[in-house]
Amino acid sequence: MEAKKHNHGRLYRAKIVPFRGPPEYGEWFDTEAGLRSAMSLAARLIGNRYYCESKLLTCAECDANEVPRVIATL
Ligand SMILES: [Zn+2]
Repeated sequence: MEAKKHNHGRLYRAKIVPFRGPPEYGEWFDTEAGLRSAMSLAARLIGNRYYCESKLLTCAECDANEVPRVIATL
């Protein structure tokens, strides 16, 4: 039997990877389009790499605790 999973949708945020040092993260957005729109207005530093990271939304009954993962470059 397959475990039952809820579908609460996903969240999206920017993951900024500098040339040196630890990655930084932006705020969560409801949609990838919303994140891309916000990022299109943001200043970018040369040498930084920008990714779109996504995670599943969960509730108290969801057992899965998925780690956010990169799904695209920004
Ligand atoms: Zn749930």
